Amino acid sequence: MNDLLSVAEALARVLNRVEPLDAERVALTSASSRVSAEDVVSAVDVPPFRSSSMDGYAVRAADLPARLAIVDRAAAGRPSQAALTSGQAIEISTGAVVPDGADTVVPIERVEVDGDAVTIPEPVPTRDNIREPGGDVEAGSTLVSPGDVLTPARLGALAACGVASVLVHRVPHVTIVVTGTELRPPGVQLAPGQIYESNGVMLAAVMEEAGATVTRLAASEDTEDAHAASLEEALASDVVVTSGGVSVGPHDLVRRVQARLGVEEVFWGVAMRPGKPLAFGCRGRTLVFGLPGNPVSALVGALLFVRPALLALVGNPDPAPPFRPGILAAPIQPRPERDDFVRARVTWSDEGALVQPIVGQESHMIMHTSAATGLVWIPRGVGALEAGSRVRFLPL
Ligand code: AMP
Ligand code: MG
Repeated sequence: MNDLLSVAEALARVLNRVEPLDAERVALTSASSRVSAEDVVSAVDVPPFRSSSMDGYAVRAADLPARLAIVDRAAAGRPSQAALTSGQAIEISTGAVVPDGADTVVPIERVEVDGDAVTIPEPVPTRDNIREPGGDVEAGSTLVSPGDVLTPARLGALAACGVASVLVHRVPHVTIVVTGTELRPPGVQLAPGQIYESNGVMLAAVMEEAGATVTRLAASEDTEDAHAASLEEALASDVVVTSGGVSVGPHDLVRRVQARLGVEEVFWGVAMRPGKPLAFGCRGRTLVFGLPGNPVSALVGALLFVRPALLALVGNPDPAPPFRPGILAAPIQPRPERDDFVRARVTWSDEGALVQPIVGQESHMIMHTSAATGLVWIPRGVGALEAGSRVRFLPL
């Protein structure tokens, strides 16, 4: 582990190995947060017809001011069959077709109605309160392109154009293998030397939040055979994430077993803290991440490398972790030889995000980390930083 990769180089090597998953057609109603794998072109204009944006009266502007005969009513979904002529008005509701012959809509608040007549005391310009066909979308225009995340507004736009389904990349299937003879599931009694297994539920949450479906296998004890059985099962998925057993101890068997199973190691060791002994490899199209066992190291590795890979697998064109600018609220003294990922609480001021490093930065301190809302990235070589220094952080 002498020549440690930088975080940026390690992420580049991960993303370099990602091929987007196959596409599948899904109903728009199941497409929220998925990523389009196609150009979707509108077959229709939106609005599809001249429609009223107000409740009021469709009239001819040239007639005004005037007292006009109300000759018909047009409601949304119930067009008037009449064509308007001079001296006439048609009562109209929001979203109704503006009748032929009318060139403006006068809102109900600006008229006086008595019986079958309406008095409009002021002149109004033509085209007032009329939405032209194609004013939002012209037929033939592109609604979404490959790589576009289907946000709520994009789903709305697709539906407004009558699109019922969309081609999206398949959801990645991740299998999580936690390793360690000492691990027991929460809820049981611990024997001496045992601890509760906490990485599985945490890593699954990161993956699910990134849109993956997750299978968790029972904790694998630290024998080659146990690891081999779990890993072989896991390697049928798109992504395998292991925790623990990836460092240099005599019971750190994950890399050896992976090699035995035909996993090609792309790198091992990243110049970062926490989480240095992180391994990444591939077998066929399956991506294999070996995260360290310490919970904070596992979490940081998942956020910096696994999550971006999951986003890239579904065709997201911008999968890198979204670090943002912030200002240090207290001085820090990071170690110079590695990129340091400092857990911090983020508050907002008029100057932007203020990041206050939390107390308890050791890599087993998951409870302390759970108070953090940001992960501050201090690149290696930076040295001591004063309060007020500009930094970048990843919201947690
Ligand atoms: P390892 O990377 O296997 O040497 O594990 C490093 C430390 O993390 C050890 O103290 C382990 O007991 C602990 N650890 C490993 N895996 C887990 C896990 N799934 N949940 C909680 N702690 C773990
Ligand atoms: Mg272990």
